[in-house]
Amino acid sequence: MQFIDLKRQYARIEEEVQAGFRRICENAQFIMGSDILKLEVMLADYVGRKYCLSCSSGTDALLIPLMAWGIGKGDAVFTTPFTFIATSEVVVLTGATPIFVDIDRKTYNISTSDLERVIEKTISEGKLTPKAIIPVDLFGLTADYDEINRIAKKYNLLVLEDAAQGFGGVYKGKRACSFGDVAATSFFPAKPLGCYGDGGAVFTDDENLIEIFKSIRIHGQGSDKYDNIRTGINGRLDTLQAIVLIEKLKIFDEELEKRNQVAKKYGELLKNKLVVPFIPDDCVSSWAQYSVLAESAWHRSELQQKLKENDIPTAIYYPIPLHLQTAYKKLGYKKGDFPISEEIASRIFSLPMHPYLTDEEIEFICSKIN
Ligand SMILES: *Cc1c(COP(=O)(O)O)cnc(C)c1O
Repeated sequence: MQFIDLKRQYARIEEEVQAGFRRICENAQFIMGSDILKLEVMLADYVGRKYCLSCSSGTDALLIPLMAWGIGKGDAVFTTPFTFIATSEVVVLTGATPIFVDIDRKTYNISTSDLERVIEKTISEGKLTPKAIIPVDLFGLTADYDEINRIAKKYNLLVLEDAAQGFGGVYKGKRACSFGDVAATSFFPAKPLGCYGDGGAVFTDDENLIEIFKSIRIHGQGSDKYDNIRTGINGRLDTLQAIVLIEKLKIFDEELEKRNQVAKKYGELLKNKLVVPFIPDDCVSSWAQYSVLAESAWHRSELQQKLKENDIPTAIYYPIPLHLQTAYKKLGYKKGDFPISEEIASRIFSLPMHPYLTDEEIEFICSKIN
């Protein structure tokens, strides 16, 4: 069994994707071009935002706005320690300091009450200037943007939505990637909307900002190809990837529906045995992962072993919270600083999740757990 079965999905879109690849190869139009522009319009329409900039990865999609805002040394950026390393990596790359905030026990997203407390603490210490918040839509569930936006306004902070896992999710009737001043997503193959390599996108409603993003994406380009007006990166999305994404976007809503059916069935069959995901009433998850809590680390490894014996793959997102990563020793955090993130990290694991899981497969997985 596959953890995420991309082969079943490919079988559905093979003809269209191959025809697109052939056209790109025959025209030798590998960088930028009309397919990229078409994809950007489709993506902006889908999430309900004015502008979309495709780029080379979810990591670059997070980095580009931080660079555009001029965030750097002496600045504080708030995020959670229970996420993929890229969320805080981009902060460090700009020279700014990531300040971690523990997660909510039920949603695993940034705790808004802790966020306000940590911002206050940072201000009173007076060493760093608070500049931005990067909330993460973990496992496909959007963070609490009403509350986050209220806090951001109060302290005059920018909000960068890390929707790498959130694309397709809904919060109070609005799609993920439509929150904050800017949103970033990833098209890594395993994400809800994945391409066939690395890819990402940035979203905003600010027309000045999108022009700066475009410039940063191509080495800080000015009005002419060899006129460079700022420091940028090589951050373009390959045109071949746009072909894949355009085809996948056509079947994406149907896949989202299927993912939600899979989650519902898992929930019904597992809720008496494990802690199953909590989705608030006004949210729809894009189910980047279906993550459950075992009773303890020991119970988790026992369950994972049992599933492995039955050819059922599992994964742990994430075993080591970011404040305990070797790379961040110099930030000075220690074990016990973020008790909820640490406890969840010790108990959580993820089950196979994709739109092509059959009822029989779900029942088989759950019977082994039960
Ligand atoms: C995957 C991921 C990223 C990075 O995306 P890449 O496309 O792999 O660079 C950033 N943040 C989160 C939460 C992710 O899951």
